[in-house]
Amino acid sequence: MKSLADLTFDNRFARLGDAFSTHVLPEPIAEPRVVVVSPAAMALLDLDPREADSEEFAQLFAGHKLWSAAEPRAMVYSGHQFGSYNPRLGDGRGLLLGEAVNEAGQHWDLHLKGAGQTPYSRRGDGRAVLRSSIREFLASEHLHALGIPSSRALCVTASSTPVWREKQERAAMILRLAQSHVRFGHFEYFYYTRQHDQLKQLGEHVLNCHFPACLAQPEPYLAMFREVVERNAELIAHWQAYGFCHGVMNSDNMSILGITFDYGPYAFLDDFDAKHICNHSDDTGRYSFSNQVPIAQWNLAALGQALTPLVEIDALRETLNLFLPLYQAHYLDLMRRRLGVLSSDAGDDALVQRLLQLMQGSAVDYTNFFRELGDSAPAQAVARLREDFTDLAGFDAWAADYLLRSQHDGDDQAQRRTRMHAANPKYILRNYLAQHVIDAAEQGDYAPVRELHQVLSRPFDEQPGFERYAQRPPEWGKHLEISCSS
Ligand code: AMP
Ligand code: MG
Repeated sequence: MKSLADLTFDNRFARLGDAFSTHVLPEPIAEPRVVVVSPAAMALLDLDPREADSEEFAQLFAGHKLWSAAEPRAMVYSGHQFGSYNPRLGDGRGLLLGEAVNEAGQHWDLHLKGAGQTPYSRRGDGRAVLRSSIREFLASEHLHALGIPSSRALCVTASSTPVWREKQERAAMILRLAQSHVRFGHFEYFYYTRQHDQLKQLGEHVLNCHFPACLAQPEPYLAMFREVVERNAELIAHWQAYGFCHGVMNSDNMSILGITFDYGPYAFLDDFDAKHICNHSDDTGRYSFSNQVPIAQWNLAALGQALTPLVEIDALRETLNLFLPLYQAHYLDLMRRRLGVLSSDAGDDALVQRLLQLMQGSAVDYTNFFRELGDSAPAQAVARLREDFTDLAGFDAWAADYLLRSQHDGDDQAQRRTRMHAANPKYILRNYLAQHVIDAAEQGDYAPVRELHQVLSRPFDEQPGFERYAQRPPEWGKHLEISCSS
């Protein structure tokens, strides 16, 4: 266990130099208070959880103090936003403070979001508000607990510093952890500005730091692209299987590590709806739930384009074509686990698609359906769930096929229940739950956000006494309007 003062740094990205990032000091927020802390994220840095109670903790994560070995930098990148290329984005309100190295030798980027203006702020104030910081914190730690790759979050600090959005709000900061903050948009920036030497340098950095095994391949940059394709196929399969809608899949919000990154107006589906649009500003539904699969491939194509100075275009194309089959295989594996079927069958894809079609329009709760499916033996479970569907004949036909598929699994109901509950969360981060704790936090009451964080960090456990967190949303909770950056 380490104290905060003992963190050691090895700032590999900062060493790439001024073509890649700019030195900027954090601008502190006034009267910082620690809102919520993740002990699991602290453990990644070997930090003693009691450190979170120290005065120094709030000071460090509200921009008042800095480790002497930290080298705060704003990274430059560009990217495609809603399909159009934006030549200059970059860290407009976040700083890479440095790369902390833990006892296992892992590097963790410490990124302080809401740390003030940078050369990339454009017209923004460089700040983050409390509600968006709490949303990112809760989602980061919850997705990780669900087994969905994600950036992590160490803490949120609130302040008395005023910030103007639609109304006056308070500035906050979130400390994000990730093993890399390199986005597809980093490569796009060097490609479109024709800085091919720097493009290569960035590729070398990524290979050395994150994909060393690719260096042994005949074409390391192609192997790197393949790794990014594979990881993102696996990531999107998790999103689709667990009903997660990211909301702003711009290429600057896509991570080369294939982790969920840059949380904005995200949502987990309540009632299943393949066409769900969680981003209030997404008028055309470009980033609707079911579009996430082709959009991920589109973003990978944008990354591939940026790699054309380093790799033969046909080889990139061939690798890009692996995305859909890889996605499909991961997705089906996850859905089989959610359905509790142990073997695989050529008809599984149809079994899943038919179920989703029946759910669509029936107002069936996506999370609770799968949890309940494992609660009792298959025949009883489908008999109970039948009540929720409008197309009863369709459901009966599906259920008959499902029961046939479940028959061959040799285990008893107790085993089946354990196995299915390990794949089907009881607790999911529903928008209305986030809204409740945000309302309380804005009034200075942080107990609800801390409790919700704790419940959501064990989403597969029953947690007696906390069942209210598994409830479906009230009507208002289904129609919350959440937009991009805040
Ligand atoms: P996002 O929608 O959070 O992914 O942000 C898109 C771009 O806008 C990134 O370059 C951000 O750094 C920048 N940005 C978002 N909000 C602000 C803000 N309040 N101040 C400055 N830059 C911002
Ligand atoms: Mg972003």
